[in-house]
Amino acid sequence: MTTLIDNFDRQVRYVRISVTDRCDFRCVYCMSEDMTFLPRAQILTLEELSMVARAFVELGVEKIRLTGGEPLVRRDIDQLVSDIGELPGLKDFTMTTNGAGLGKYAESLRQAGMQRLNISLDSLDPERFHRLTRTGQLGKVIDGIRAAKDAGFERIKLNAVILKGRNDDEVLDLVEFARQEGVDISFIEEMPLGDVSDHSRAETFCSSDEVQSMIEERHSLVPTTETTLGPSRYFRMTDSETRVGFISPHSHNFCSTCNRVRVTVEGRLLLCLGNEHSVDLREVLRRYPGDMDALKTRIIEAMPLKPERHHFTTDGDVQVVRFMNMTGG
Ligand code: SAM
Ligand code: SF4
Repeated sequence: MTTLIDNFDRQVRYVRISVTDRCDFRCVYCMSEDMTFLPRAQILTLEELSMVARAFVELGVEKIRLTGGEPLVRRDIDQLVSDIGELPGLKDFTMTTNGAGLGKYAESLRQAGMQRLNISLDSLDPERFHRLTRTGQLGKVIDGIRAAKDAGFERIKLNAVILKGRNDDEVLDLVEFARQEGVDISFIEEMPLGDVSDHSRAETFCSSDEVQSMIEERHSLVPTTETTLGPSRYFRMTDSETRVGFISPHSHNFCSTCNRVRVTVEGRLLLCLGNEHSVDLREVLRRYPGDMDALKTRIIEAMPLKPERHHFTTDGDVQVVRFMNMTGG
């Protein structure tokens, strides 16, 4: 079988597919308050998204994550999930969601073959949660987390972006919440994607090492070699099943082991989160409808474009003009 190997001998085994650029939230680090979203003709149809997923799995990809924007605001998302869930060879199928739609969808996603979920949660204080997300209601997300637990996902992980002065005082509370709910939690360093209006990234940057020290004031963290093919570095606590992860694009560069590519909802194959290199898959999908070989060839030919590493800085300089909702977090 052909596999996807780049010029630095890294095999691509993991694809993140963005199924929409839209969202019911407007998180301060992700979007500006007034966003213009893509017209429908520019975004891939569910059939096109499903074909992209199949092409990658046939090229040896083992893990697919659906993301966005907010995947659960895409109409008929459960149909796409069930198409992808049936692909032979796919070992790990997951989604990143803000959780607000899980009350409605958790059960059907699980039934359709999704195994794991990442749910974003940056604060346990309803007012603060609303300020950080601009439109979100904490209660709905907590209900969504419980619905996901009831639906029996193999693993649920919370993702928290920590910003100094905004939610860094909640690190221990978030860990406590994850322990009580019996789920994992990862802390993410803010990345300079898109120009945000609400805060200065240089002032709010909080490194994973700082977050780790806060947690170690209460819990000893034992490093593990466990991996989910993603960028998280995991730790265990002796008195709980909850794993604590850190995603540190700034302070612990993870490029050398990068096995991931992304596909935007416009069908742009992005070879690196922090660079603009991309290849247009939509053009092939629409020029040769249904032609799996043409699609696979375009994907294989894109591999040499994968750059060796990203070069994020913490001084607030915007290096990548895409917002995260366009990139597919
Ligand atoms: N809407 C879904 C959600 O929020 O989970 C999925 C898409 S969102 C873009 C994916 C993840 O990216 C979320 O966990 C979010 O917190 C994170 N994110 C968004 N903008 C970010 C940024 N500038 N730096 C770091 N993480 C970011
Ligand atoms: Fe929406 Fe997720 Fe971005 Fe928040 S982080 S605005 S929930 S896409």
